[in-house]
Amino acid sequence: MKRLRLATIWLDGCSGCHMSFLDMDELLLELAPRLELAYSPLVDRKEFPEQVDLALLEGAVSTPEDEAKARLVRARSHLVVALGDCACNGNLPAMRNRLDNAELLDLVYRQQAEGEAGPPTRNVPPLLPHSLPLHRVIDVDLFLPGCPPPAAAIVRALTAVLEGRELSELPTLKFG
Ligand code: SF4
Repeated sequence: MKRLRLATIWLDGCSGCHMSFLDMDELLLELAPRLELAYSPLVDRKEFPEQVDLALLEGAVSTPEDEAKARLVRARSHLVVALGDCACNGNLPAMRNRLDNAELLDLVYRQQAEGEAGPPTRNVPPLLPHSLPLHRVIDVDLFLPGCPPPAAAIVRALTAVLEGRELSELPTLKFG
């Protein structure tokens, strides 16, 4: 039996959507023989692999690094799901979008910080002007909204793909 090559990724998110994935509990054990976890924060693989069947992507796109990763995931995955509100509509990361990045960073890292060191410049990617929902950067096949999305919605999507059904049949939001 061919197993579904599954990837889970988080960009600018809090990992809460991944907790929902784990909330599938015993069902994960049932599904496990039919899944190959090809890439995930839950496993220790550095490179995003080729030929992924389904990618669940949590978080908004907030840095050039996020953007490059989202594009790589899209190029190497048959289906891409925006997992949770941050990926679907920007949610918490997008709350900064009305503010000026430089002023915001100065406020946090200089004006209100001890030592007045200023914003970090090493090993931290720069921010894009705005945090973007996933569909502003790449094509998305299915949106699973919620903060976090319920485990049952993830189960529905996984089951549909395993059964060879179209994701567009699912009773969730579909844009684009
Ligand atoms: Fe966290 Fe909610 Fe964003 Fe998911 S949608 S990453 S739970 S803030």
